[in-house]
Amino acid sequence: MYRTHNCGELSQKDIGKEVILSGWIKRIRNFGSLFFIDIRDYFGITQLIIYKKSVKKNLLLSKESIIRVKGKVVERLSKNYNLPTGEIEIYVSHIDLLNSSLSPPFTIEDKTDGNEEIRMIYRYLDIRRDPIKNNLIIRHNLTLETRNFLSKNKFLEIETPLLINYTPEGARSFVVPSRIYTNKFYALAQSPQLFKQLLMIGGIDRYFQIVKCFRDEDSRSDRQIEFTQIDCEMSFVEVHDILTFFENFIKHIFKKIKNIQLDSFPCISYYDAIKMYGTDSPDIRFGMSFVELNDLTKKENINFLKNQELVIGIKIRKCIYEKIDCFLKKIENKNFFWIKYLYDQTFLFSNQNFLNEEVIKIFIKYFKAVPGDFLFFSYGKKIKTREELGKIRLRIAEFLNLKNPKIFKPLWITDLPLLEWDEESKKYKSVHHPFTSPKEEDIYLLKKDPKNIRSKSYDLIINGIEIGSGSIRIHNKNIQNIIFKYLGLSKKEIESRFGFFIKAFEYGVPPHGGIAFGLDRLVNLLEGNKNIKNFIAFPKNNYGKDLMINAPSFLEKEKLKELHFR
Ligand code: ASP
Repeated sequence: MYRTHNCGELSQKDIGKEVILSGWIKRIRNFGSLFFIDIRDYFGITQLIIYKKSVKKNLLLSKESIIRVKGKVVERLSKNYNLPTGEIEIYVSHIDLLNSSLSPPFTIEDKTDGNEEIRMIYRYLDIRRDPIKNNLIIRHNLTLETRNFLSKNKFLEIETPLLINYTPEGARSFVVPSRIYTNKFYALAQSPQLFKQLLMIGGIDRYFQIVKCFRDEDSRSDRQIEFTQIDCEMSFVEVHDILTFFENFIKHIFKKIKNIQLDSFPCISYYDAIKMYGTDSPDIRFGMSFVELNDLTKKENINFLKNQELVIGIKIRKCIYEKIDCFLKKIENKNFFWIKYLYDQTFLFSNQNFLNEEVIKIFIKYFKAVPGDFLFFSYGKKIKTREELGKIRLRIAEFLNLKNPKIFKPLWITDLPLLEWDEESKKYKSVHHPFTSPKEEDIYLLKKDPKNIRSKSYDLIINGIEIGSGSIRIHNKNIQNIIFKYLGLSKKEIESRFGFFIKAFEYGVPPHGGIAFGLDRLVNLLEGNKNIKNFIAFPKNNYGKDLMINAPSFLEKEKLKELHFR
C-alpha cells in the first residue's frame, strides 16, 4: 500500500492514528540525531519527524526524491496555522525510498529562481510548484463551469474535425501532408467555424466546444500558435440575443470563479470606440475618453489648431505631477501639447507658440478642469491622431497605476466593418471572417462602397483585451457568394474550397450566429493578466517552440519520402 492518506488531509482529529504517506521530499532540516522532512503531493504538505536510528544507513534522502513513510500522527509543538496540516506531524517509524531524484535545476517553491526557459524545458517540475498547479486547477474549474452553464442552457458539446482543408480565415493555417494521397494536404483547423455552422444547418439548435485551434502566426506573449477556444453557435438569434446570453455567461463565470458581480456591459459601436478611445479594444477602467475640440478651436478662432483635421484631448483627474513629469520626459514631442492646472491655480503648459494664457483658459473652462487636473491633447490627421492619443492614454494610465488588475470592466464592441482593403494583396479582406453577415441597412453599399459596410459582428473586450469575438452569419446563398467575390475568390475557387458549404445553403439554413472566447486569455485575465503560459500545462515559447520536447524538429529522409517530399 502506498498511502492511507494524502499529504494534505491529516489534522488534530487524526492524532494517534498509524498512517502511511507517499510523496516528494520538499525540504529536509537536519538536527543531528533527528531531522524534519516536508513531504509533498498534489494535495498538500505534511511535516515528518524522523530519528536517525530509524533510517537505514545507506538510505540517501534528497530533495524531490519520492518516499513512503509509515508513522503515527502526533501533535506539533510549534504549530503552523497557515498550513491545513500545520498542527500535526508524523512520527516516522519506517521509511522507504520509492524513487530518487537528481537535484532539480531550479527551486521548486512558490518563488522560484528558475527563468522561463528552464521552467519550460522541465515543465513537469514547474507543475509541481503551487502557482502553476493552482492555475491548472483554476482552468479546470473554469472549463467545468462553462460546460455546466452551457449544458444547462441546452447547448450540446460536439467535437468537430481538426484535420480539414485550407480555408482563408484571416490567419495562416498549419498544413499536414497526406501520406496516402500524393501532393495532398490537410490543414489544422483555425477554428470550427464552418462545422459549427453546418451543425446549425443540421438542426442542432445550440452547440459549444472547448476546442484546440491552430494558427500559424508569429507568437506573442499573449498568443500561442495552438490555443483553446470556448466556441459557441446558436440558431434563430440576432445580435441582441447573443450579447444578452453571453453577457450572462461571463457574469456567471466571474461570480463562480472570482466571486465578482460584474455590472452590465456597455455596448458601443466600433466607430464610436475609435472616436472615443482611438482603438477597437478600449480599456475603460479609467475613463479618459477623447473630447473632440474642432468646433471649439474654430469658434474661439485659435490659430493653427483651428486648421487641423482633428484636435482631441483627454482630462486626467487629480494627477500626481511627479509621475506625469516622468511620463512627459519619455514622450517625443510629436503633435501633442499639454496643460497642468496646478493646485495654486496657476498653469504650466507645453512650449508651443499657439499656446498662451488666453487659449489655456478656454480649454480649462471647456474641460471643466479643477486645480490638480492635467489635460493632454493631440492634433493632426484623423486616424493617426486618434491612434497616437489612444496609445498615450494607455501609457498615462500605466504611469499613474490606473490599471487595477482587481477591477474588471467588460464591454461589447459592435458593428465592426465587414471588409478592409489590403494594400499588399490589393484585395478586400474580411475583418472578422467571410461568413459574417453585413447589416441589412448597409447591403446597398456592397457595390459602391464596400469598406463602409458595417457587419453584424461583436467583440467582448475586458480591460483592453479581446476575450471573445463572433457574428451573426450569412444565411443567404447569394450574399455569401457576393462576399466571396469581394474577397477575390473566383467561381472555381469558391466551388473547390467552399462547394460543400454553398451546397448546404440549398437545404434550408436557419438564421444563426455565434461567438468564441479565448480560454487561455480569459483564465489569465481572471488571475491578474500576468502570463498566458502560466495557465497552459505545456505551452510553447514566444517563438512557437516547445522547449521540452524540442518541437518543431527535422524529419528523417525516409519519413519525408513517405510523405512524397524529395
Ligand atoms: N470562428 C471565430 C473565431 O475563431 C469566432 C466566431 O465567429 O464564432 O474568431
